[in-house]
Amino acid sequence: MIRIKKKFLLAIFVVVFFVYLYFYLYSNVPSNSEKFIDTVPKTIPNYKKYSNVHDVVEKPLDDINDNDNLLGEEDPEQSNLGKKDLINDQILPENNNDVESSCNLDIDTVPNSDIQMLNVYNEIPFDNLDGGVWKQGWNIEYDIHQWNRNHKLKVFIVPHSHNDPGWINTFDEYYERQTKQIFSNMLRHLDENENMKFIWAEIVYFSRWYDSLMTSESKDKVKRLIKNKQLEFVTGGWVMTDEAASHWYSILQSLTEGQVWLKKTFNISNIKSSWAIDPFGHSSVMPYIFKEAGFENMLIQRTHYSVKKYLAQRKELEFRWRQLWDTKGTTDLFTHMMPFYSYDVPHTCGPDPKICCQFDFKRLPGYGLSCPWKVPPVPITDDNVAKRAEMIVDQWRKKSVLYKTRSVLIPLGDDFRYTQSMEWEAQRVNFEKIFEYVNNEPSFNVEAKFATLQEYFDSVRHEKGTNQFPSLTGDFFTYADRDDHYWSGYFTSRPFYKRIDRILMNYLRTAEMLHSWTSWEKSTGFEKRLEQARRALSIFQHHDGVTGTAKDYVMADYNEMMTDGIKNSKFVIQQAVYKLLTESNIYHPDYSFTYFNIDDSRTAASDDSSRSVIIIGDEIPYKYVVIHNSQTYLRNEVVEFFVAKPFVCVTDADGNSVDAQITPFFSWHKGIYQGLPQPQFSTTKYRLIFSASAPALGLSVYKLNAKNKRDECPSTTYSKITIFTDNQFAINLDEYPEKVTFAEPKETSLRINENSPGASFNKYGILKSLSQDSKSPVVPVHLEFMRYGTRMAHGQRSGAYLFLPDGPAQKLEIKENPTVVISNGQLEASISTGLSFVIHESILRSGGDALEIRNSVDIRETSNTEIIMRLSTNIKNENVFFTDLNGMQYIKRKILKKVPLQGNYYPIPTGIFIEDDLIRLSLFTSTPLGGSSLNPGEIEIMQDRRLNQDDERGLGQGVTDNKPVLNIFKLVLESRESCKKNDEQYPMGFLTTTAYMEQKKLLHPFEKLIYSENDWNGVKHSFGNDHEEQEPGFEIVVMRTLPHIQANAIGLVVHRTNFDKCSVESSMNGNQFNIKRLLGLDENEESREIYRSTVTLLEPHQKVSDESIPMCGMDIKGFILK
Ligand SMILES: [Zn+2]
Repeated sequence: MIRIKKKFLLAIFVVVFFVYLYFYLYSNVPSNSEKFIDTVPKTIPNYKKYSNVHDVVEKPLDDINDNDNLLGEEDPEQSNLGKKDLINDQILPENNNDVESSCNLDIDTVPNSDIQMLNVYNEIPFDNLDGGVWKQGWNIEYDIHQWNRNHKLKVFIVPHSHNDPGWINTFDEYYERQTKQIFSNMLRHLDENENMKFIWAEIVYFSRWYDSLMTSESKDKVKRLIKNKQLEFVTGGWVMTDEAASHWYSILQSLTEGQVWLKKTFNISNIKSSWAIDPFGHSSVMPYIFKEAGFENMLIQRTHYSVKKYLAQRKELEFRWRQLWDTKGTTDLFTHMMPFYSYDVPHTCGPDPKICCQFDFKRLPGYGLSCPWKVPPVPITDDNVAKRAEMIVDQWRKKSVLYKTRSVLIPLGDDFRYTQSMEWEAQRVNFEKIFEYVNNEPSFNVEAKFATLQEYFDSVRHEKGTNQFPSLTGDFFTYADRDDHYWSGYFTSRPFYKRIDRILMNYLRTAEMLHSWTSWEKSTGFEKRLEQARRALSIFQHHDGVTGTAKDYVMADYNEMMTDGIKNSKFVIQQAVYKLLTESNIYHPDYSFTYFNIDDSRTAASDDSSRSVIIIGDEIPYKYVVIHNSQTYLRNEVVEFFVAKPFVCVTDADGNSVDAQITPFFSWHKGIYQGLPQPQFSTTKYRLIFSASAPALGLSVYKLNAKNKRDECPSTTYSKITIFTDNQFAINLDEYPEKVTFAEPKETSLRINENSPGASFNKYGILKSLSQDSKSPVVPVHLEFMRYGTRMAHGQRSGAYLFLPDGPAQKLEIKENPTVVISNGQLEASISTGLSFVIHESILRSGGDALEIRNSVDIRETSNTEIIMRLSTNIKNENVFFTDLNGMQYIKRKILKKVPLQGNYYPIPTGIFIEDDLIRLSLFTSTPLGGSSLNPGEIEIMQDRRLNQDDERGLGQGVTDNKPVLNIFKLVLESRESCKKNDEQYPMGFLTTTAYMEQKKLLHPFEKLIYSENDWNGVKHSFGNDHEEQEPGFEIVVMRTLPHIQANAIGLVVHRTNFDKCSVESSMNGNQFNIKRLLGLDENEESREIYRSTVTLLEPHQKVSDESIPMCGMDIKGFILK
């Protein structure tokens, strides 16, 4: 039997392949072959050469620096002379109306940079040699003469404490048990010792403590410490965000929430340096956000040990991090990468942890901590200080020669440090003894002190212009801390919570937007609700939150906050919608009333039972529903509601009939005999599907009218249901006017109309091929579910962080015919199949350009299993693919054979695509997950992971709290024939307008509101018809009220994405947009003025005189309207 099946499949495959080959050849050869030969880039010099040329132009950095080091001579002026100043440290770019020429994105130019990370990956051998005491490096040697009386080694000891807002304990527990004590001891010890310093990153903790201080005396003390620059806030974000799974909208929320609190509380608006010592890999979206927030410096730590070594060997651990598209260097942000394994004391004073550990005075005998290298610290005394100083100065020097300047940064801290008074005392007193000795011993040529992060960066910048540091483009994924231990598991861990993150992100953004259209009385409490939602989303961006790397109950705690955030956002949304759509003379609001239920067809769980069912009939003849569009362009999209009766007629608010479709509702249930899930049809609810449209940033009202039978509404059609099963069963659809057909399992295909995508499926209801429309070639796209197992070796097993598979993925065989339900309608066609671990559904919709895939994944009955969905095509992408960074940009990736499978896995926060000269296949995801393109023509994306053990990174548990989760994807197939082929060295990719709009439907679908009452007096038909529509690509990232500035101030953050150049696309013509026209502000009655600001919206900067604002591709700009 099996053999026959295999042969049969093989035969089908061969036939499909030849059919495809036929189309492939005949549809392309005649008209386009020449064009493609032309567009293949001429053999340009390889990148290394390219970058050498650049180095010459910019002057050979290394020569200059070597001279500096040897002579100890330096003219600070000289560094800026005779050089093209590549860095632009202005917070805000100059207003320039000649936009084209001022844009830093030019798709025809490969951006120049001294270091390109993809090329670095090609160069690194990944040989993991034993480097001696610095295991992952080498034996560092130095020339003592590089320091002298006039050019001392400047040592900045920076006391810090890393406080995770939730990990092993919840945020509250940590605060009560540890963090509170840190702050009260800080207050005392900094106050008593003016040379002692402390830096703090997580504002979620600091605000909690400061807001609870009872006396103004204590508050004044804090303010004095800030003023004295003893206490310094670094980054100033709500949390230290994850950089892989987080969406950049949410990263910006977290940064803004913390910084707004600092601005309100201490009037701080000039934080210049960020501190990210613990996120597991680093994204180049961060320097871009920081740059636009007015930062000048950033610090990162967790990058691949081989990357650290490579950069350290070249003295390139400090660089100007540049955006991938930037041809002008205007996005550069000065970056310091820490060189060693960890941010704890053993790995920060120098290369030898055995020595450094002896200078962590919390590990003095009797404090309950020790050194794993078996040599504990000893208190510094007059007798031993000479010897101890010699030891640590040697470490400082060795660390310092990995960098270009004579300033060296020595962080002094660890997780939840400085909780005890005696700990403050021990660190301070012992180091002060060392400082005193070292600073007064001329032979050292060292000047050491406690310092803040900013002092270090200031010193570096004083020594050398930032243009003497190399520029770098790319990112730092995928992180490995040792051996082949790649941290690619957390890209997917806890997908259920990752999904809640995206749902909250969307509702919060919409709530802020709708809330800011009108002014509200203070008594509404809406600002408080929005603040709760912001803080819930912000805390979850923590690098143990959205990463899924906290204890089960800590994840549940985050979930509670986020669920409240969603509720609060929804409440504000529906109140705002009621106000915007009700005539003002009728509007007498009750601020605690729920005017609308918000219906969501993309819940995190696969269970639809919480959704509203609209009941209309004899008693309630109609119901109003409202659609909201949060994008800046008019959208037409198919929406779905549940209705209790199958006879419904949809009209818009003006009474015009709207095309609609009714489809039976069914859910899947496992049978009592543990067989495959079977569909159960409902007699009390049906799916109402209709094409809705809503203006840019606007609302539309629709009316659902009850009818008694099918004939009463010709604009409503009924889908036809076909079921493939080996065992027919009885189905009752109550009044549904179409019969269900049963059939033998067979191949089938779906298409809404000839201009829309088509898909064909095997007899199991699983995707086999796709076509862009009925005239385009059919492209084989074979979908399958596969599984990775876990390696057996002790201490090397997959867990929440690590992905350590036991080999390539194994196919999950389908052993018996599953039941397949096919629904064919005019607006929506779908095929749904019940497999043992996933309910897999594929949907095509009218007006859509994507195949939607919905996987309700449930792996609770497995162990040590990671499930993936793999798509196999014959796209000739070689080893190249593109994944997004934080939903903002697509970076080019390459599969490297020298890197293990798990190291070739990358975060997929929103999408991945592969392409060749003819075809591009993009997969967009509703949930951040991990994935790759391990073999040519493939895309794979992980669905869920269940792991029975800890992976020894401190969490102390496996991942076994899986819940059924709904992962939604959009699959877009596009022809590349009319698209420009980028230079082979171009380090990133761009979506087409079509693909971009499909992706937006996933992350920012129409909000659907159901009016709770029957009659709606004073209902307006729409809102936003006066909003000037923008081309897709102009995004409103944030539109919110700014109570910290003034009651009716509005903050706007605008982003313009860049699209791939394809002739069929509407190209991005307009480079300018007009805020007032976009928002429909009447110039006469609104006397609002517009100011530029940073993207954190702290305060207004210069006034915008010309209302047409230039925006280049990939620009982000902040504005404040007062
Ligand atoms: Zn941490």
